[in-house]
Formats: sequence, structure tokens, C-alpha cells
Amino acid sequence: MFEFSGQILDCDGHLYMEPDVMAEIVGEAGGGWIIDYLREYVGSDADLAARDQARVDTWTIKGISALGSFSPRDRVDVFYTMGNHRWRCDKPQGHGSLDLKHALAQSCDVFYYSVGDRAGLDVIAEMARRFGYGAPTGLDLGREIPGIIPDSKTITPESGSARAHAINAAIGQGEINVTPLQQAVAYAAVANGGDIVLPQIVLRIEAPDGKVIREFQPQILRKLGLKDSSLAAVRAGLDAVVNEPGGTAWRSRLQDVHMAGKTGTAQVMKLGKQQKLDPTTQAYFSRDHAWFAAFAPAADPEVVVVVLNEHGGWGAEAAAPAAAKVVSAYFKIKREETPPPAVAPPLATSSVVQ
Ligand SMILES: [Zn+2]
Repeated sequence: MFEFSGQILDCDGHLYMEPDVMAEIVGEAGGGWIIDYLREYVGSDADLAARDQARVDTWTIKGISALGSFSPRDRVDVFYTMGNHRWRCDKPQGHGSLDLKHALAQSCDVFYYSVGDRAGLDVIAEMARRFGYGAPTGLDLGREIPGIIPDSKTITPESGSARAHAINAAIGQGEINVTPLQQAVAYAAVANGGDIVLPQIVLRIEAPDGKVIREFQPQILRKLGLKDSSLAAVRAGLDAVVNEPGGTAWRSRLQDVHMAGKTGTAQVMKLGKQQKLDPTTQAYFSRDHAWFAAFAPAADPEVVVVVLNEHGGWGAEAAAPAAAKVVSAYFKIKREETPPPAVAPPLATSSVVQ
């Protein structure tokens, strides 16, 4: 499996450096303080989504809550009852009996209500923190926000019982906030077999003559410490999301590369009527955030793509197609940059086996 390096290939259109400026600075200063320059200059006004925004997520936490309490082969039935309340999911007739793979593929909330209740809030929180949620990732530009992973110590009695919080958290709702960069790191860990890597935006510093002044090596911060079989079950689920009929991103599957991923639709705070916004603006801000996080190729991943379309609506419609285009473009560029294999010399007639 490709060892995902943590190198950020692209991060939102606002992060932009003039190559001439870079070269001048490196040439004058020997490159040592280029990182400070990046931190100060790029970090100050770039709208780097990785640092500036935390949004509720619905996908990873689902898998995480299952990992905390569940064997990949366990199954959960259609309806889930807590007290007098019987939950159903958005498929009126229910999804039937599901295992983890198919619960991820079809994004069945009821499955996760059940596993979330079984795991409890603190197990979900512990598992989420292992994946890097709730803390800065260590990005070399600094100034990250940590996001929020609630546990039994942080919730207040007025906001509901720990059990209710656990069920909410299991589908990534409630107080949970995550950043796109945390998503990328968590996804890389699922894809690479369990390594939490340091995301790095600077690959190397070169002098104007091309001499490498400093190279930044991939860094593994820690291991997830999960069984290979658990991560394999998650990967199988994320593969099925895109590549099996009934998966929520089936319509975004690619012909040229096998992509795995997960849709997410994150609820937003509903605006009050007193906000006095025109109907169009009101409708925009009331719409959910659309997520899609992907890696590819599914069987031997080398790249992770995270799309957050703010107020875009459904993840399957408003984020998965964009992620698929990015993945497709990445592999197209790679193919164009890879020289064609050398043509083998024609076989001499005498060596052809009859
Ligand atoms: Zn369901």
C-alpha cells in the first residue's frame, strides 16, 4: 500500500504564491526563513479552509462509532428503539439487516444510532481523537482550530443525557465540529493502513539555480492502533459507497480509476425569522453543508480528496461529483507525466515458440 506522505497537493484556490517572489526570497535569504514568510504572509490572508472552518460532519464519525463497539460482521436490524421512541431512517421501508460495509455504503442512520448507543459517548470521543479529530493536525502553517469532539466531561445536563449525545454523535451531529484537513488526515489513515501523518504544505525549498536547500520528509505522528480487519471493513464500505449499486455516490463512480469515499450531509443551525434576510439568502444559509471525502485508487490508495461545499445541500449531489472530477484530473495529469513504457524489440523469428 502506498505510504500516504501527508503532502498537501492543493488546498483551496486562495492559497497562492508567486514563484518569482519565492525565488527572490530564497535567493536573498538562503531559504531559512521562507517558512516564517509562508506562515506570516500566506497564513494571514489566505482563506485556507483547513484552518478557518469547522463544520459538522456526518461520515467518519459513523465509521468511528462502529469501530469502537462493533465487529465488522455484526448486523443491526431496520428499526431502533430507545424508550418509547422508535427511529427509522430516511428510507421509509428501512434498510433491513445491515453490516458495517453496507451501513456505510447506504449511510443508514439507524445502524449508527444503535452502535452509538452501544459504544457510548466516551468511546466514540476516544476513537475520534485517535483519528485526529478534536485537536490541531500540526499543519506547518500553524494557527489551526481544533474542532469539537464532545465527551461526558464537556456536555452539560441541559443539553441532554450522555446517551442522547452518543446517539447524536454516532451520526456526526450535535456538537461535533471537524475541519476539512482533519478529514483528510483521518481518511489517509484509513487508506494507508493506520498511520496518522503530519500534513505539510511545503515540499522543498530550492535556490533559483535549482539547488535543494531543504527538503521536508513525510512524518508519521502516530499509529491508529486498530486491527487491520477493522480498517479493511471500513475501506470495503467506502468502496461500496461509490462502486456498488445502492451506494450513495454510485452516480459519481469513475470509469478510469476506482475511487472510494463517503458522502456527508451536515445539518446547519436554522436561522430565526428575526434575521430579516431576503428569501434567497435565507434559503442559502438554511441549506445543509455537502461533504465528500475520497481516496483512490481504492485498492492501493495514493491520494485523498476532501470536498466541503458549504450550504451545497446533499453530499451525493453537491460534493461527490466535484471530488470525482478532482480524482479523475489527478490521475489524468499523472498519466500524461508518466513516460510511455519502452517498446520491446520485435522477437526474432527463430525465438517464436510454435
Ligand atoms: Zn436505514
